[in-house]
Formats: sequence, C-alpha cells, structure tokens
Amino acid sequence: MHHGIALYRSRKIHIGNQRMGDGEPVLIQSMTNVSTMDTIACVEQCIRIFDAGATLVRITASNIKEARNLKNIRQELSNRGYHFPLSADVHFNPSIAEIAAAHVEKIRINPGNFARDDIQGPFLKLLAVCRQHNTAIRIGVNHGSLAERILEKFGDTPEGMVESAMEYLRICQQQGFHNVVVSLKSSNARIMIYANRLLQMRMIEEKMDFPIHLGVTEAGAGEEGRIRSAVGIGTLLKEGIGNTIRVSLTEEPEQEIPAAQKLLEAAYRTNIGVTGKPTLIKPLETSYQRRKSKKTGKIGGGLVPVVITRFPEEPMEEQPTATEADYVFVSDHELINDLPGDRRYILTAESWLLEEYPQETFFPLFSLKDFTDYGKTSDVLNFVLVSPDETKQALELLKAPEVPACIIYLHETSDKSRKAFTTLVKDVSFSMPVIIMASYNENDRERFWMRTATELAWYFIDGYADGLWLDHPFADNDKLSATAFKILQATRARMTETEYIACPSCGRTLFNIQETLREIKAATSHLNHLKIAVMGCIVNGPGEMADADYGYVGSGRGKISLYRNKEMVKKNIPQQNAVEELLHLIKTNGDWHDRS
Ligand code: SF4
Repeated sequence: MHHGIALYRSRKIHIGNQRMGDGEPVLIQSMTNVSTMDTIACVEQCIRIFDAGATLVRITASNIKEARNLKNIRQELSNRGYHFPLSADVHFNPSIAEIAAAHVEKIRINPGNFARDDIQGPFLKLLAVCRQHNTAIRIGVNHGSLAERILEKFGDTPEGMVESAMEYLRICQQQGFHNVVVSLKSSNARIMIYANRLLQMRMIEEKMDFPIHLGVTEAGAGEEGRIRSAVGIGTLLKEGIGNTIRVSLTEEPEQEIPAAQKLLEAAYRTNIGVTGKPTLIKPLETSYQRRKSKKTGKIGGGLVPVVITRFPEEPMEEQPTATEADYVFVSDHELINDLPGDRRYILTAESWLLEEYPQETFFPLFSLKDFTDYGKTSDVLNFVLVSPDETKQALELLKAPEVPACIIYLHETSDKSRKAFTTLVKDVSFSMPVIIMASYNENDRERFWMRTATELAWYFIDGYADGLWLDHPFADNDKLSATAFKILQATRARMTETEYIACPSCGRTLFNIQETLREIKAATSHLNHLKIAVMGCIVNGPGEMADADYGYVGSGRGKISLYRNKEMVKKNIPQQNAVEELLHLIKTNGDWHDRS
C-alpha cells in the first residue's frame, strides 16, 4: 500500500531492457568504483551489483579511452548473460558523451560542466547520437557543481539546481526527445529535498513529466550514510516523488543494494500502479522555516530539537555522556529513588503525583484527558501525550494552556495522521512545542534506520517538530538516542557529530577511500563543529565537497591535496602522511580540541 500524499506521475521511458516511470517499480541502481580500463574487474563488479538486485549500473567515463572501453565491458557482460543496462557517467566533455552513447544504454551528463555558455550546440549533437542509438540521457545536477552563470543568478540554491536542469529539459522537450531522466543531488539532504519538490512542481507547470532519479551525494558509510540517504530519498518517495534511486555509500557498491531495497520497503513504493493526472502537491515546503513554538522550559522557541529515550536496562553513567538523550522517561516507579543526578526525567503522571519531586528535574507525562482533568500539574514543564485521532481535541483544549506544557505527538505512518499533524502545527493560534514519539520493533538494524529516517525526517526538514523520542522494546537505549541524533543531524536540525562528506568513489579514485575515511573518523569524530570531506578525485571532488571546512582529496596516484574551505592549501602531498597533515592543518587553524 502506498502511503505518500500524492504522486507525481512521470512518463514511462526505456533504458535498454528496463522501463522507468509511470507506475513501474522504482528502479535500484549503483555505480562501479574500479578502473573503467580494467574490463574484467569492472564486469565482475557490475555482476556483483546486478546479483545483489540492481537493474542498472553506472560506470565513469572520464576520457575518450574509457568511453571506448565501455564497448568491451558491455560485450563481456552480454557474453556472461547479463543484459541489464549500463549508464556512462560523463562530466566534462561532449565528445566523450557522444562516444559512450554508442556503447551503453544511458548517458549521464552534468549540466554544471557539460558545456560552458553555448549549451544548445553540443547538447543537440548529443541528442542526435542518442536518438540514433536509442540511448537514454540523465540530466544529473549536483548542488556542488552548478555552472557559473547559474550561480551568478540564483546562488547555490534549490532554485539554481532546478533551473540548471530545466535549461536542458526544455531543449529535450522542444526536440521531442523524451528518453530522459533528471536528478538534483546534494550532500545536504534538506537542500536535495527542497530542490526535488520544486523540480516536480516546475515540471508540472511547464507540462513536462520526466522521471526523477533520487540520491544524496557523499552520504558516507554505515549508519550515518544510510540515515542521510534515507532522509533525502525516503522523504521524497513517501511524497510520491522518485522513479529510480541510488543509495551512495562509501562502501562496496553491492552493499548499496540491500540498503536501497530496505529503503524502498520503508517507503512502500515498490510495485505500485499509478493512475490519474499529475497533481501539484500541496503543501510541500521548498525552503526552511522553523515553526514558531513558544519556548517552554528548555524546549521549543527556536532551540535545537531535544531527544528523549526511556530509562535504559543497563545502569547509567554517573555523568551524562555527550550523546545521551536530553530527557529520560522512567516508567517504573520502583526506580525513581535511585536515579543518577544531573539529568532531566519524565515520569508517568501517576508516579509524579505520588511524591514531591524536584520541579526542575522531574516532569509529568499526562494523557490529554488526564492533563485537562487532573488538579495538579508542574509549574515548570508538563508533557501531554496526543495521538493523531486526538489532534482536533488537542487544538481546542491546549490553545491557551494555563501551565507550561509540550505535546508528545504519537507518530503514525498514514496520510491521515500526516494531515492531522500538519493541521496542528500550521494553526497559528497554537504555539505549544511538539515532540514526535515513534515506536518500532524492527530487529534488523539497517531496516530500523531506513524506516525511522524515511518516516520521521520530514517533521524536521520542514521545521515543525521540537524534539524526537524513539522507542523500541528491545533496542539498547544508547543506540536509540544515537539514531535520533543522526536523524536530527541529517536533517540539519541539530548538529552533534563531526559531519563527514565522503564520495562513494568511482573509477577516478586512486586510493583506498573506505580505509582513509575510517582513519580520519577515528581521529576527528569528537570535532562536532566541523565538516570534513574525503573525496576520491581532484576533478570533481573540490566542486562536490559542498560547504566542508576541510577537504582530503585524491590528486593522483599516491598523492593527496588538502583543502581549507574551498582553497587548496597543500598540493600533491604523499598519501602516507596525508592524514597526519590534515590533523596538523586543523590544529594550526585553531579548530582542534582534545577529546573530553
Ligand atoms: S568525487 Fe568521487 S565519485 Fe565523484 S568523480 Fe571523483 S572519485 Fe568519482
């Protein structure tokens, strides 16, 4: 069953033997990261990706030789019985694109660097070649590499990304070339979501219906990479946007496929049939604005969203740890007298009423009915549990509370509950802070990350919620708060960790990026005020490392260049010392502190 609000209905296109758009299942793809000149390594990696469940693989073609070798790769794959389509990733050179178009089923070009001012001439030539070979095209815009003329006019904004794609899509439309898919990617999931929402609205306005490819670039690895991808991709899929996805992880490419499958499962978007005309989906935010809730205790009023977890099974540390939840819910009355200090606790209203607890650190949790019926409440902070079905009642009863209170809103996945929640937070006369509480019982960790990020990110992307409470009957409480903090970080609602921007690597990468990322993380994970990029190549890395404070970029075999913001500060240093040099650079710029 589909749970999105509405569906953007794209046209159906063909990429080799695969179809995309117009009710077709969302297609999963990945990209090779071995050298395109190593035919056998490339073929074997493609096979691993296909065997994992992808139905399209992208291969970099950074020069004429690589573009020509795509023919051998295609041939060898066909010889081995793999007829799934291949896509060539071409960044800079229209003539490379023309050669590649003759050998593979799809070409990806980046409008930011495909051609400079005269886009019409080279692009028309490419369309002619693609038409001749029945090759599809992806217009693949990257937030970090917009063309100069777009930047001058729009800045590096979602509008700029949309316009960058629309220039090319309009030519396709005029030329009657419809075998086109479009993508707007960014390492910042919030920007990527706004850009894609805007794109589908703009396409509908201009009577276009090209399928949309979704991806968050440089998402990283592990839990962080999966959550960041699911925040961007999952949010949009649930809103009915997206026909093909790539979860790009700095891991082996075949590991992206189960992650993508679980993400799709979380968004309930596989195998759905879509009928009807495209609808302009409303309301979907396309720029960030935090809801103006009233500051209540240390919650709301523009403060970063808080995290709540239940009391852990394991004993708690005497002092709170850096990533511990801000509030701990204690349901068992027996435990209350032995709780470690320096924390804020939420008790059930029944427990709280039994004794006089310190007002500044113990707060009651009421049901909506009990909150309005009970005579006694906290003078400092009360929590009120509200289910989607009680939204209307909550709006009536809690508009002008006599005591300070926050809502704990029970998350449900239905469209109905999303609408109910939106009604609540959009009511300008209602200003109580709202914290989302979501319960899961997934045992598979990857599935848990995909579901939580896919279902919960929009509350923070759209600036509506003031906190997050994740619950799970068996999960360790530290892990739950870690996931909650990662969702807040990926939605840019609250930064608690060093932000890593790591490219997934491709045939252009000449060093072991996974190992390097692990090494850099081990040394810098406590620097939570920094964004550090680890990029595979000097060709696209600097442009795509977005707003990183420091960059570690491969610049040739055994050579690394280091960046501070957008400026190269160390050129071609030996790879053996490069991590050490990066740490030295961070220290000399005064951005280092020791772990506490
Ligand atoms: S930045 Fe990474 S993924 Fe992008 S082209 Fe360079 S090596 Fe490939």
